[in-house]
Amino acid sequence: MEKIMTMGEILVEIMATRRGQSLRAPGSLAGPYASGAPAIFIDQVARLGHPAAIIGCVGDDDFGWLNIERLQRDGVDTSAISVLKTAVTGSAFVTYRLDGERDFIFNITNSASAQLQPAHVSAAALKDCSHFHVMGSSLFSFRIIDAMKKAIEIVKGQGGMVSFDPNIRKEMLRICEMREALGYILEFTDILLPSGHEVSLLTDAADEAGAIDELFAKGVKEIVVKRGPQGCSYFARGARLEVAALAVEELDPTGAGDCFGATFVTCRHLGKGPEEALRYANASGALAVRVKGPMEGTSDFEQLDALLARP
Ligand code: ADP
Repeated sequence: MEKIMTMGEILVEIMATRRGQSLRAPGSLAGPYASGAPAIFIDQVARLGHPAAIIGCVGDDDFGWLNIERLQRDGVDTSAISVLKTAVTGSAFVTYRLDGERDFIFNITNSASAQLQPAHVSAAALKDCSHFHVMGSSLFSFRIIDAMKKAIEIVKGQGGMVSFDPNIRKEMLRICEMREALGYILEFTDILLPSGHEVSLLTDAADEAGAIDELFAKGVKEIVVKRGPQGCSYFARGARLEVAALAVEELDPTGAGDCFGATFVTCRHLGKGPEEALRYANASGALAVRVKGPMEGTSDFEQLDALLARP
């Protein structure tokens, strides 16, 4: 079986343990947890028993090794993670407001993850990669964008597929290189996994239906719109499916979209039809929100089947 791969930030997350708890006052914190959207994605792929690998950079420090050991334990090939002596592993500090919204303090742009560049990408690093996943959150420097373009070119050149979770922030679109990069990635995207509010940001269309048509015209083959507690919608040419979210108690939404995307992509890669892939993806999103910690809610098929079999 060929590999699913991704590339990008590998971080630790440290979180306030209580809703409404501020980081300005002393209080108990939880973590460090292994994190970073691409790292969560690839961990979920490996938990489903599929060959999985990630290209990225960490510092030669406890936070870096915590991530490598965790990913290895779950079955991820970490041989393309560079351990740098010259930079520290990135971090994110998270607090939860009383209304459930989250605030983040990121230390990423000066971290080892920011050192990622085209030199880390090669045909050898992407050997046996038949599916490459791009996380929009990773595109925070021009060097990284160039590295991502190089990876896409190599994977497409060897007949592989590309999926893309845009994770767009509106302010990013004001940077013309960023708009150009999004356009480039969309041109090569087979499976697009946007959140509901992102669909209209990706094109100039007036509404979601128009945006979906424009995205198909660009060559995207399948679009799965993630709608949080409202579930998800699937679009392919001439097909539309709606799946309601499973009823679970949401403790921590971090990582749900990454687990969802990884499960959908893995299921499609395993030859499952869109309907079955959506059911599993929806269940893996639901399992992720039930657990505190970004990567703590990844799941295997046995756990997904158990949730889906629930009356
Ligand atoms: P993203 O953060 O990438 O926008 P979402 O928050 O939409 O991702 O979550 C991804 C998927 O996880 C959803 O489409 C849904 O299937 C599932 N999910 C998210 N939140 C919940 C919830 N509160 N209850 C049940 N399932 C959920």
